Amino acid sequence: MKTIYVDNAATTAMSDTAIAAMTDYYKTVYGNPSSLHTVGQQAKEALDDCRVRIAKCLNCEPWDGKQLPEIFFTSGGSEADNQCIRSAALLGARKGKRHIISTAFEHHAVMHTLKKLEKEGFEVTYLDVHANGLVTADEVAAAIREDTALVTVMFANNEVGTIQPIEEIGAVCRKKGVVFHTDAVQAVGHIPVDVRAQNVDMLSLSAHKFHGPKGVGALYCKRGVPLLTFVEGGAQERGKRAGTENLAGIAGMAAALEEACANMEKNSAKLLKLREKLIDGLLKIEHSKLNGDRNMRLPANVNVCFEGIEGESLLLLLDAKGICASSGSACTSGSLDPSHVLLALGLPHEVAHGSLRLSLSEATTDEDVDYIIAEVPKVVEYLRNISPVWEELEKGIKPHLI
Ligand SMILES: *Cc1c(COP(=O)(O)O)cnc(C)c1O
Repeated sequence: MKTIYVDNAATTAMSDTAIAAMTDYYKTVYGNPSSLHTVGQQAKEALDDCRVRIAKCLNCEPWDGKQLPEIFFTSGGSEADNQCIRSAALLGARKGKRHIISTAFEHHAVMHTLKKLEKEGFEVTYLDVHANGLVTADEVAAAIREDTALVTVMFANNEVGTIQPIEEIGAVCRKKGVVFHTDAVQAVGHIPVDVRAQNVDMLSLSAHKFHGPKGVGALYCKRGVPLLTFVEGGAQERGKRAGTENLAGIAGMAAALEEACANMEKNSAKLLKLREKLIDGLLKIEHSKLNGDRNMRLPANVNVCFEGIEGESLLLLLDAKGICASSGSACTSGSLDPSHVLLALGLPHEVAHGSLRLSLSEATTDEDVDYIIAEVPKVVEYLRNISPVWEELEKGIKPHLI
């Protein structure tokens, strides 16, 4: 049986380009960039070459190699989120600013960092997300106070795929002199990200979401925005993050990002067609609903709810048919709580339980989409037929919610 992998928001398969780049580095550029000899200096040059190439993809300021760079390497998106948010918060607190603005549907790497800061005496305003999965720049502006140290709003949501008005939110923050961070892990390599045009001060990205290797990512910190260190040790990354650099991983990330950006237009056009066909096909199932705005969403993201079923059961049965999907976030699977993202969009608990996220990739074919459209209704019908909840809905004992 063919495996149809439609869980690319959880992680992606590595591209051949990324694998080739890494193999090359493992074999030839094995030095420690901190070593003073030739082999070490070759590694240092390669490291900074990757830094410049990644910076270019995000339209960072040019870097002469002497001043502080704007790209710092991390172990992934979670670490980048932690460092950006904690740094901006703690530096704000030094000036008496202990207020942070975010949204109710951030990734756990952001959410849990904010929860911890709340325990440390910070106050966080979680902006309500509209039913379409969006917040507005006006809402951010209205929430900014004299003591606001940081605004952190994700670029694109990992579950429902909605894309926030980042440029407008950035403009509001810049006008009010508040640091603006965005978790762009789902956006980078998939939709245009331009830190200068979009008024971003700090940004997080992760290689394994755009066909690079796992365990490597980067943060962008605009020149002039101070950045605190949380991993102490050697002087790597200009003292901003200690530890011998994962050079092969970083090279794989740079290669994957360049490839993703070069093919973005072509891939998006293809994905949009597949996405729309898939949404139309799945919404033919009665009592189903698309989660998140239909237009302001990632080209590869489909997220639907089916009333009267459990998302987990749906996933297992789809897996048996070779379809690897998700109910939402990879991080919440295994827990029986409905996704905080779907609840933030205002979905009732019962409905949020029946969610299915299909995140496509360039490798997804028209035939894959046809197969999914053919199989999902069968599984939904089977599950509804054995569901006591569905029976109550059908008998009119409980009203249909969608
Ligand atoms: C995957 C993801 C992360 C975490 O990135 P890792 O590299 O897996 O730590 C953070 N934010 C979002 C939106 C993500 O999708």
